[in-house]
Amino acid sequence: MIKLKESVEKLHAYFVNDIPYKVKLDANEGSNYLLKDGLKIEDFQPNLYPDSDSKLLREKMSEYYECKPENILAGNGSSELINMVINAYCEKGDKVTSFVPSFSMYQTYCDLCGAEYIGIPCEDDFTQNIDKLINKSLEINPKIVILCTPNNPTGYVTSKQDIIKLLDAVKNSIIIIDEAYVDFCDSSIVGLINQYENLIVMRTLSKAFGLAGLRVGAMLANENLINYVWKVKVPYNINILSQYAAVKSLENIKLVNEYKKEVAMLREELSINLKNINFTVYDSGSNFIFLKSPVDNLYEKLMECGVLIRKFNYNNDTYYRITVGTKEQNEILLYEIEKIINRSKIWDKAL
Ligand code: PMP
Repeated sequence: MIKLKESVEKLHAYFVNDIPYKVKLDANEGSNYLLKDGLKIEDFQPNLYPDSDSKLLREKMSEYYECKPENILAGNGSSELINMVINAYCEKGDKVTSFVPSFSMYQTYCDLCGAEYIGIPCEDDFTQNIDKLINKSLEINPKIVILCTPNNPTGYVTSKQDIIKLLDAVKNSIIIIDEAYVDFCDSSIVGLINQYENLIVMRTLSKAFGLAGLRVGAMLANENLINYVWKVKVPYNINILSQYAAVKSLENIKLVNEYKKEVAMLREELSINLKNINFTVYDSGSNFIFLKSPVDNLYEKLMECGVLIRKFNYNNDTYYRITVGTKEQNEILLYEIEKIINRSKIWDKAL
């Protein structure tokens, strides 16, 4: 029998739930507003390999991210890039640290290469004490520190001041700032990539650009880091269609800026409406909100009416993450939640 690799054998394969729905608010995807009219197949040459270096795409990205194309490595989603960085730096047994709860794939990518993922708990209100991350990093000397801001799933935004404090204190680890959702709160620290030799910023077109299905992301860092991580990039990692569509989308930044404002407005509206019906809603700088529900089994009950959200079990409590939808989607969500609350009131009276 062929001997299996221990680190792979221990893994659980990643499957995404395939549940029928009428409103999908479980994966923080944006609206399809940039490519509403689709793409014409005549615009591509599918017989040719794509540009392996994504040259034009990186040029367009450099205008939006305000850096040089040489500071950008484009990826098949920022997921690919996070995996590449962990792979490029971590040997078996190396440590990677981050706050928890945070994006669950950090742990998965560490498991894939045998790195040890060490989570530092957020505070009880899901704020993050940067000193705890700094002190732990200085104590255990991780290869990589990952800070997600706004954090998924809590929505917490780390201040620029705290990020600079971390960068000034922790010099012997790669610091990844995962800014997948930063477009929604405009507090990026991309401008610092050439000031810190260990700083990597991750961005994606999956959220504010509403292009999750195209799988396009960017790693931004000084040229030395880019050149090093580039060595583990597979050739032709972004297909021809995705490169073309992402370039077209990056030529429409005015629409992106309008969409970001609209989502921020809808997020505040949805938060207020949920607070009014006794939800605990945590502050969010993102396109989702994190909350505690006054009714039990909200995830299951909403699923029964075709509304998908995410459920998290943390410290013996249940929390939910809901993507901010369109006005209409949010109205359906609230309508279904109110029906669930009223039904549970009727049950309470009957008991
Ligand atoms: N980082 C965070 C915090 C995320 O939530 C996600 C996707 N949910 C990603 C990175 C990866 O995004 P993508 O691969 O679509 O760019």
